[in-house]
Amino acid sequence: MNAATVRKDLLAILGQEKVLTEELDLMYYSYDSSFLTQLKSANPWAVVLPASTEDVQAVMKYAYENQIDVTPRGAGTGETGGSVALDGGIVIDLSNFNEIVEIDARNMQVIVRPGVIHAELNHALAEYKLFFPPDPGSSLMCTIGGMVANNASGLRAVKYGCTEQYVLGLEIVMPNGELIYTGGIKARTLKNVSGLNLTKLMVGSEGVLGIITQIRLRCWPRPEARGIAMAIFDSLDDAPATVLDIYQAGIMPSGMEILDKTAIDAVNMYKPEINLPVAEAILLFEVDGNPPSVEYEGRVIEEVAGRRARAVEWSTDPERMAELWEGRSVTATAAARVRSDGTRVFAGEDISVPLARVADTLRAIRKLAEKYEIQVVNYGHIGDGNVHTAPVINIDDPQEVERVNQLVNEIHLLAIEMNGSTTGEHGVGAVRRPYAELEHGLAVKYMQKVKNAIDDKGIMNPNKLF
Ligand SMILES: Cc1cc2nc3c(=O)[nH]c(=O)nc-3n(C[C@H](O)[C@H](O)[C@H](O)COP(=O)(O)OP(=O)(O)OC[C@H]3O[C@@H](n4cnc5c(N)ncnc54)[C@H](O)[C@@H]3O)c2cc1C
Repeated sequence: MNAATVRKDLLAILGQEKVLTEELDLMYYSYDSSFLTQLKSANPWAVVLPASTEDVQAVMKYAYENQIDVTPRGAGTGETGGSVALDGGIVIDLSNFNEIVEIDARNMQVIVRPGVIHAELNHALAEYKLFFPPDPGSSLMCTIGGMVANNASGLRAVKYGCTEQYVLGLEIVMPNGELIYTGGIKARTLKNVSGLNLTKLMVGSEGVLGIITQIRLRCWPRPEARGIAMAIFDSLDDAPATVLDIYQAGIMPSGMEILDKTAIDAVNMYKPEINLPVAEAILLFEVDGNPPSVEYEGRVIEEVAGRRARAVEWSTDPERMAELWEGRSVTATAAARVRSDGTRVFAGEDISVPLARVADTLRAIRKLAEKYEIQVVNYGHIGDGNVHTAPVINIDDPQEVERVNQLVNEIHLLAIEMNGSTTGEHGVGAVRRPYAELEHGLAVKYMQKVKNAIDDKGIMNPNKLF
């Protein structure tokens, strides 16, 4: 089947308003936020914009009968090429299928269509004093469908976990167009151990098993109070040691962030008025909950962190909290500005390692940066060992591109060597696929068997994940 026939057929099935076929429109879908697609973008044959589950089913039935590859897409903020049809075929853009179907506050849950934007969902839940805790940095752009497909999380995952903890049930259009519900067809429970857990299988499946068309999410009570602590360290090793001290003091902050020396320098260069203290590492702690417990936990953090830190400051004053947090909130932007001719590339950007190996990992990344002569800025969610690495290069220089690709390969290998993972947040897609066997061994064969059983024609987001 060729692109022209597929376009004609899709127009006949869905009508002109729901199908894009112009090259200029298709170009928008030729990349996501990954370095991979920045280097090598790929237009799909056609894009469909479904407005209902029935639309998705009609497209999948057609694709299945004619064995055409299908790539689901939310907002395209993924960093791994996951939502790009790298080998052609149809892209199903779910971002306009974006209704909040029901906020069932009495049962602490919400039902949404996949295209709902994360920040908009939390805005709607705020009225009910509820929230959906996973908090990706892309909150203002990414869709709930994309978050479920990537099992997204953020800096508060240390306390609240990833998206998977909140998904109670899914409506899924299978590769052959059949419709299934996971978590019980009629269920509105928060607890359910009946049947094989297909919900869990689908969360993080990155579009290789089916299209998520509805999501039932557990909501959480919105915390009333917040506090922020900043601790300054002259020794890198004291930072993860302090995180452990805090856990051992019985405290679970809602965020524990690290800026190493490279990030501190980047922030001070980008916005000198922030004036972060020159140090080997800065830790930022966020505590949330009810006001007395926040005050208590903050004081414990201040005392415990003070044992190793050069200085610690704790505040619940909103203005001071914003000042303490400002360095962290501009880190990603600051990282991109460390070179006037530089661009931050999103590659090797979210490895995760055990807490006990964070300091060694950061030191090893600095050495690799020196070896490949690439400027790198390091920060991350230290509470769960999620290291964000930002290489900054001149992307018009082919030698730098070559060197950064080698650097990123070594960072991925380093993560596995450190008993970690090539990705703690952003997923595998096409970018980390080459490391699947190294990371999972024989389990990959069984992942493939599950994929083959569900997607017997191999049309769902091919060549991604494994
Ligand atoms: C500035 C920035 C900051 C970020 N910060 C974070 C962060 O803190 N934490 C984090 O986890 N990620 C982060 N990301 C990565 C990304 O935003 C998340 O993975 C997000 O969940 C992707 O959502 P999306 O709607 O853009 O999905 P897309 O990028 O469109 O798709 C992602 C994957 O999901 C599949 N998919 C999408 N919708 C569906 C569906 N309905 N059914 C089946 N499969 C589907 C796609 O095929 C693809 O494989 C960040 C990205 C950027 C650009």
